[in-house]
Amino acid sequence: MGRSIEQDALTIDLRKLDSVRAASDRQTAVIGGGANNLQVARVLEQEGLATPLGLVATVGFVGWATLGGYGSFMNQWGLGVDNIVEAEVVTWEGKVITANEELLAGIRGAGGAFGIIVSLTVKVYALEKVLAGGILFAPQQFKPFLRMLESEASSFPPALQVGTAVFNFPGKVRVFRAELLWSSPDLDAGYTAIQRLKSLSPPSIGDDVSETALSTLIEKITAMIPPAYGGNETVSFATFDDESLDVLDQYVTAMPNDPATVIALHHLSPVSPSARPLQESMGSSWPLRCGHTMIEIIGSVRDKTKQFESRQWSVECRDALWRTTKSLEETYISMTYPGDRTLAQIYGSKWENLKSLSAKYDPHGIFELSVPRIRSGMA
Ligand SMILES: Cc1cc2nc3c(=O)[nH]c(=O)nc-3n(C[C@H](O)[C@H](O)[C@H](O)COP(=O)(O)OP(=O)(O)OC[C@H]3O[C@@H](n4cnc5c(N)ncnc54)[C@H](O)[C@@H]3O)c2cc1C
Repeated sequence: MGRSIEQDALTIDLRKLDSVRAASDRQTAVIGGGANNLQVARVLEQEGLATPLGLVATVGFVGWATLGGYGSFMNQWGLGVDNIVEAEVVTWEGKVITANEELLAGIRGAGGAFGIIVSLTVKVYALEKVLAGGILFAPQQFKPFLRMLESEASSFPPALQVGTAVFNFPGKVRVFRAELLWSSPDLDAGYTAIQRLKSLSPPSIGDDVSETALSTLIEKITAMIPPAYGGNETVSFATFDDESLDVLDQYVTAMPNDPATVIALHHLSPVSPSARPLQESMGSSWPLRCGHTMIEIIGSVRDKTKQFESRQWSVECRDALWRTTKSLEETYISMTYPGDRTLAQIYGSKWENLKSLSAKYDPHGIFELSVPRIRSGMA
């Protein structure tokens, strides 16, 4: 994060490329290279449409989607990266081109490493309103809830998205919240699915699920994020076992008390289209084709003087999780701390192709400081 600014490098401000236009057949939309998640949500919902989006307003849609894109609707329609159908790119020579299939396969997973993305065309879906909200638990219920989700995830409808997070309310009260999102026009079926999830969950403190527009949810979530100092770590798991859950639990207990220190889990259910092999016609550099959980260990603080403590906790938590037998080699590039992983580890079987694409489409390393840094080979 914060990876678009580099000493002695040129940064191009794309914020004015913020147009969002749905096609007349309502199957796709063209999104400008500088539009953010909230801008996309607002325009699409005026048309009764939606597409998978990140839930923080200010995150750029192109950076989010091309490098993976965990967030809303991913169990139903897949990760952001799997909804990209076309890209308009400015090449190193300054030519504007529509990406051919091999370049598009690189952009799906490695984003701006081959050129400036002027616009992305993505799939869109008919959706007016969502059911959204959460169930609040005591932090001790984190482990039993994750066990339940692990065993039941495949039995929930794809329209039900579940995220989990442990955080501190001001006043040092630690809670665990399951964040729910229902993405089908059949809201009654959503209430039924949420009721079933609640009946399988450990005892909770309360819940607040209601009908809302996605943009309102994005605004609400963004308003809850405090200004903070610090960094992120990440580890992914295809399945949890006792060892990994025990380590997570240990670091939930040891978590510093700052309101900006958080553990957030993004669960991609095995029922998601992104958990299955892609159609052969759709090339991609995204490596993880299975149900999995991406853990964000946010070692940030509001109080700058406590930065060291929180960062140390997040690094130790990451290392302890990495040492467990079930942790995956492939970490999420967008949240991997620079230098922590090689790109060969992150991209697995896709890595050799990415290097060839970089040699072909960025022969002089003009985009070398983009994420991922293919020439350096490090995250
Ligand atoms: C507060 C916060 C919350 C987040 N939550 C989530 C989440 O829920 N799910 C998730 O998956 N990720 C999440 N992320 C990670 C986020 O998706 C990545 O950091 C993403 O790369 C941010 O994109 P950006 O354009 O905003 O950032 P930038 O740092 O500006 O861009 C990231 C990289 O993409 C390149 N890039 C961006 N736009 C273009 C373009 N048009 N053409 C070419 N290259 C481009 C930049 O050069 C840079 O290398 C979050 C990040 C933050 C800061």
